[in-house]
Amino acid sequence: MATDPSSATGLHIQGLSLTDLAAEFGTPLYVYDADVVTRQYQDLRELLHPRLEIFYSLKANPNVAICALLGSLGARAEVSSLAELVTAQRAGITPDDIVFPGPGKTPDELVACLDAGIAAIVCESLDELALVDRLAGERGVTARVALRVNPNFSVKGAKLVMSGTSRQFGIDQETLLAQRDLAARFPSVRLVGFHIYMGTRVLEERVVAEHTERILEAAEQLADALGIPLELVDIGGGLGVPYFEGERTLDPAVLTALLNPLVEKFAADHPRTRLVMELGRYLTAPAGIYVTRVRYLKESRGERFAVVDGGTHHHMAAVGIGSFVKRNFPMRLLNRTATEDDQTWNIAGPLCTPNDTLGKKVSLPPLRAGDLVGVLQSGAYGPSASPVLFLSHGHPAEVLVHEGRALLVRERDGLDDLLGKQRTYDFHGTGGPAHAR
Ligand SMILES: *Cc1c(COP(=O)(O)O)cnc(C)c1O
Repeated sequence: MATDPSSATGLHIQGLSLTDLAAEFGTPLYVYDADVVTRQYQDLRELLHPRLEIFYSLKANPNVAICALLGSLGARAEVSSLAELVTAQRAGITPDDIVFPGPGKTPDELVACLDAGIAAIVCESLDELALVDRLAGERGVTARVALRVNPNFSVKGAKLVMSGTSRQFGIDQETLLAQRDLAARFPSVRLVGFHIYMGTRVLEERVVAEHTERILEAAEQLADALGIPLELVDIGGGLGVPYFEGERTLDPAVLTALLNPLVEKFAADHPRTRLVMELGRYLTAPAGIYVTRVRYLKESRGERFAVVDGGTHHHMAAVGIGSFVKRNFPMRLLNRTATEDDQTWNIAGPLCTPNDTLGKKVSLPPLRAGDLVGVLQSGAYGPSASPVLFLSHGHPAEVLVHEGRALLVRERDGLDDLLGKQRTYDFHGTGGPAHAR
C-alpha cells in the first residue's frame, strides 16, 4: 500500500534522492533499502522464539549482496539451484546453515550439496532419495536428508497452495507412512527430519500458527511411524506482504505471540531439533522500488497513457501476468512533489504486447516526460522471476542503499551480455555472420 509503513517512502532513500540515483545508474532500475531489509529481519528475529531459525529463501531475491546482508544479520539460507547454493556460500553462509529443497534437483546439484556438506538436502520424491543414496555411496559419504512431505491436510489462508492436494512437491504423507523400512533401504542416507511447506502469501497471523501447529504434529507422527530422528524440522513459512488495496501487513508481535508457545512446547519436547522457517518475500519485498522513467505521454480513446522504460520483462508480478485480474501494485511519482490533483493513468511499458502495463487506471499526479514512476513493494520476485530477455532488454541494474551509500550490486545487461552467447552460421554462402554485419 502507498501508506504501508514498511514501504520505502518518499522521494529519498536514506537521504539519497531517487532522482540522483536514477541519473547515476540509469533507468529502469531496482533500488533496495538495506534499512528495510534489516528491519524486516530484526523486528521478527527479536520477537521470534530463539529456537526457530530464519532461513532466507534466495528465490525471492537472489542478489548476492542481499543474501550477504541477511547473512550478516544472522539469517541462514534456503536454496533451490546450484547457482543459489554458490550464491549463499559466496554471501558467507556456512554449509551447515543451508537447506536445499526443489522437486527437480540434478545430479550435479546433489553432488554439490554432498561436497559442501549442507544441513539438509530436502528430498521431494523416493526416486530422488534413491539417487542421493547412490551418489553419496559412490563418494563414501553419508547424506543428510530431510523428507519433504505433502501432508494429508491443508489449511486455508494461503494465496498460493503448495501442498495438501495433488502436487509435484514432496512425498504424499500416506505414501511415506507405507515405507516402514525407509532408513534401512538407503544406507548412505541419514534421514534427519521433515520439511512441510503449506503455501505462500499468508497475510493472517492465525493461519501461520495453524500451519505450524499441524506441521509440528505431523513431523512427530511421521518420525514415530518411520523411526526417523527429528534432527531438523522445516516448517516452511509463507509470510506475505501487502501488494494490493485492502491487503494488510502481518504484525510480528501478533504472529510471534501465537507462534512462540507452539515452538516452546515442541522445543522442550525435542531439545536437539533444529527448527527452520523459510522466508523470502517477507524479508525483501518491502525494501525494493522498481524505478522507471516516463518516455512518452499519449491519449487513446479517452484514456491517458504514460509509456515508461520498464515493464513485464523486469517485473512480471506487478504487470499481473498469470493472474486472473490485473490489480495494481502501489505506485508513486518519485522525482517531485506534485501540487495538482491526481489523474487516472495507464502506465505502459516498452514491450510490444498489450499486457505490458505496470499500472491500469492508477491515480497519479499529472505526469510529464522524464518523470520517474516507481513501483513499491518490489524487492522480491522482480527481475529473477520475469522474462528479462523479452525483446532482448536484459536484466536491469540493481542498487542497494546501505548506510547512506548507493552500492551497485548488479550491472545492467549490455549488448555483450545479450548477444555474446548467440551463434549464427553462413547459411547460403552469403558470407553469414560477416555479411549480416
Ligand atoms: C518459494 C519458497 C519459499 C519462499 O516463499 P516466500 O513466499 O518468498 O516466502 C520458501 N520455501 C520453499 C520451499 C519455497 O518453494
